[in-house]
Amino acid sequence: MPTVLITGVTGQDGTILAERLVAEGADVHGLVRLREELSVGVPGVELHLGDLTGRDAVGGLVRELAPDEVYSLGGISSVGFSWEHPVLTGAVSGLGAVTVFEAAYAAQQATGRDVRVVQASSAEIFGEPDRTPQDESTSVRPINPYGAAKAYAHQMAAVYRSRGLFVASCILYNHESPLRPEAFVTRKITSGAARIAAAGAGVLSLGNLDARRDWGWAPDYVDAMVRAARHDTASDYVVATGRTHSVADFVEAAFRRAGIEDWRSHVQVDPAFVRPVDAYEMVGNASKARDELGWEATVTFEELVARMVDHDVALLGTPS
Ligand code: GDP
Repeated sequence: MPTVLITGVTGQDGTILAERLVAEGADVHGLVRLREELSVGVPGVELHLGDLTGRDAVGGLVRELAPDEVYSLGGISSVGFSWEHPVLTGAVSGLGAVTVFEAAYAAQQATGRDVRVVQASSAEIFGEPDRTPQDESTSVRPINPYGAAKAYAHQMAAVYRSRGLFVASCILYNHESPLRPEAFVTRKITSGAARIAAAGAGVLSLGNLDARRDWGWAPDYVDAMVRAARHDTASDYVVATGRTHSVADFVEAAFRRAGIEDWRSHVQVDPAFVRPVDAYEMVGNASKARDELGWEATVTFEELVARMVDHDVALLGTPS
């Protein structure tokens, strides 16, 4: 069974990936930035303290573990946060990923054993794309600090690939689950719908209701990353459902699932949540992942919304 290192192991995807790999019997290690995080991990995962902005911590750990697979999931995860902290975003999500590639490359050079790396890239590298849907050959031209940091990491993945390191870059479209924090619109909506349904009243403040996203089920996207790591060759893969819905569609489906038909009387647009620059529509063409990796999205939009709402309704019913 492989030895695996996951950066960003406490995030949504890191948690789902760690649980899956532990269940498969892998020797799973995770990198965490804060001492407090050492006590909260997934059972069966050995956590290590280290900062992605500190080169030595990551290099030393990769040398010591000699992992077969490294999943580079660590970084700033939200576009909104990246506007507030552009320098930190570049350091962690851009250079931090390159630190991981360099550590894997150095370990491979030193031991002669192959290390396979998967970079969690993002649809945000495309910015306002010149074509719909986007695929692996779409121009990379980000429009926010998060996308620019991810673009740098994505391009460096290709640079390390040409140097002889196996680095697959999965260009992930929005992917959701009950593990999403409320900084993301999906979870904000599902927890809001559950709260308003339970109280019989209340208002949810949102930003742009017309924005359209290609929303998928996070465990499917984690599955794509595992398939990419274990494929014969390293490459770039768009991972997406190929279908978009608007924020308003998500709200409607979530409120209906929570038992509220007239969602409009419970939602207001607050300019504070409308972003200054926002990609209007993102949609990916995942044919390459389907053809080469045998990957496909298994959960429909309606089912995804239902799972997240049901989780939040159940949470409210759980005594704390
Ligand atoms: P992102 O696509 O990675 O930025 O994921 P988000 O879930 O944060 O945002 C998805 C879309 O929802 C974006 O176009 C946002 O502008 C839009 N949106 C509308 N209202 C809100 C809100 O209240 N919070 C967030 N986070 N996004 C919102």
